Amino acid sequence: MATHKYLANYPPELISQVESLIENHRLASYLLDRYPQPHNIANDNDLREYVISLKNQHMKKSQPLSKIKYDNKIHVVNNALGLHSYVARIQGGKLKTKNELRVSSVFKKTPEDFLNMIVVHELAHLKEKEHNKAFYRLCNHMLGNYHQLEFDMRLYLIQLETHGSLYDK
Ligand SMILES: [Zn+2]
Repeated sequence: MATHKYLANYPPELISQVESLIENHRLASYLLDRYPQPHNIANDNDLREYVISLKNQHMKKSQPLSKIKYDNKIHVVNNALGLHSYVARIQGGKLKTKNELRVSSVFKKTPEDFLNMIVVHELAHLKEKEHNKAFYRLCNHMLGNYHQLEFDMRLYLIQLETHGSLYDK
């Protein structure tokens, strides 16, 4: 079931609540009530501006990002939370790390809250590579309701997989 794939680490009570939402065909309205409309950050340039502004707000001192883009090759199922790539390059005999921030194209057509959440997630990885306590503390610092948004974004991915996009029009 999709719930197991997207909600693997959540408490069983919560998963069964979601399953009953799905069974009662209430998932779409749950999402649309809270997140009625998609953002209009439509292309890589807009995304770059959006990301840089968040980065300047919260993580000004972190290393610069060499590339910021939507990526339609990111498999949402396997990389539900975007893709953080640290491309290692050899320069003058020294190993350098080049930071790219790629966001799955799925987030082109989501509410801004979900894009905000995924960008905050990826920015936090500039400091913390692992999904550990320090990582989530940083996410929460940048976005107060980070955990709720990550959960709701996962619900949206379930909706997307089972019924398609809510925001296609
Ligand atoms: Zn991550």
